[in-house]
Amino acid sequence: MKITNVTTYVVADTSQNQIGASMDWQWVFLKVETDEGVTGWGEAGASARASGVAMGTAIEHVKESVIGENPMDIERLWHKLYRQFSYMGSRGFGTSLTAGFDTALWDIKGKVAGMPVYDLLGGRFRDPVRLYANVWFRGCSTPEQYAEAAQKNLLDLGHDACKLDPFLEMVPYHTMYQDGQISDEGEQQGYDIVAAVRETVGPKYEILIDAHGHYNVPTAIRLANNLFEQSKIGWFEEPVPPESYDALREVREHTNAPICVGERLFTRYDFIPIFRDRLADYIMPDTIWTGGISEIKKIATMAEAYYIPIAPHVVPGGPLELIAAAHVVSSIPNFYRLEHSQFNIATHNQMLTEPYVIKDGALHLNGKPGLGYELDEEWLLANLHPDWEVATS
Ligand code: MG
Repeated sequence: MKITNVTTYVVADTSQNQIGASMDWQWVFLKVETDEGVTGWGEAGASARASGVAMGTAIEHVKESVIGENPMDIERLWHKLYRQFSYMGSRGFGTSLTAGFDTALWDIKGKVAGMPVYDLLGGRFRDPVRLYANVWFRGCSTPEQYAEAAQKNLLDLGHDACKLDPFLEMVPYHTMYQDGQISDEGEQQGYDIVAAVRETVGPKYEILIDAHGHYNVPTAIRLANNLFEQSKIGWFEEPVPPESYDALREVREHTNAPICVGERLFTRYDFIPIFRDRLADYIMPDTIWTGGISEIKKIATMAEAYYIPIAPHVVPGGPLELIAAAHVVSSIPNFYRLEHSQFNIATHNQMLTEPYVIKDGALHLNGKPGLGYELDEEWLLANLHPDWEVATS
């Protein structure tokens, strides 16, 4: 069996602005065709702004290196793609690109075997997949609005865990670390929002806080401790920017709030210090950013050896990222929860020929071979990002 063609689609996220920051989100998909008529779909991920077009262009440049290869050789092709970026740094951009191919190859292998990907990964440890809700608060800016959204978008829909970043003052600096500090007013607003959500959802509900790496060490410690004491948060995610394991250690040593990191750690190698030095209670690798189904499965197994639960990061990914992650966590013992963007369900399902099903706070996969879901090519072509149309015209 041989790979005969790869087609790249860079699609505009029509839901736009999903986390409240002004970003031009783009989704990158690829279709891998074979000489036996079996086709696989992959998602290559793009974190913001023009990176989708850059990713699409890179895929177009490297795809020749896999055309003619046997799509069954996932492990070897993963290394072939990943190592192409060695001298610029393979992690991040290179792993997202590799993930696009990796996901599509698992889809092909499952279709050839007549089995869902989770069966190829060891079989089901669980069904369905427990979720937590993110982006359920869109448009909210006051504690009252958050409380109302928590009732309507969380409790009424059967979710039993949610995530939010309540420190709205930091939104304009999202991904652009400044001095790591927040004003007294901004800090208090965050506490008030979380308290209002806690009041609505009750004492046992899981409220996860995403700090988005916005803070310096003393600020992160103060915010984590106050939120844990006041509102009993379930985790404080990315307290400090991802570059310094030492800063993370210092936060960890000075707070009782559980710590979660991982969406900006790439490949199994970046997670070694987290496990070895016990720097987090939970990890949340991103299935695509970290290198695809093959890589996150390995990271999950490493975490298992340390009894650390894994809760894969998904937002702002597209539908295949969510589905790929669900296949992986279906097959592992040390799963905690899978993130999903409530706000994107409708858009995701427009892109698929069969919608995925979320019921009672859990994702139910359809059990079909491969990933089990196909992208709607007509929809993709009708929603290509304008910059991608220019780049490929
Ligand atoms: Mg996060």
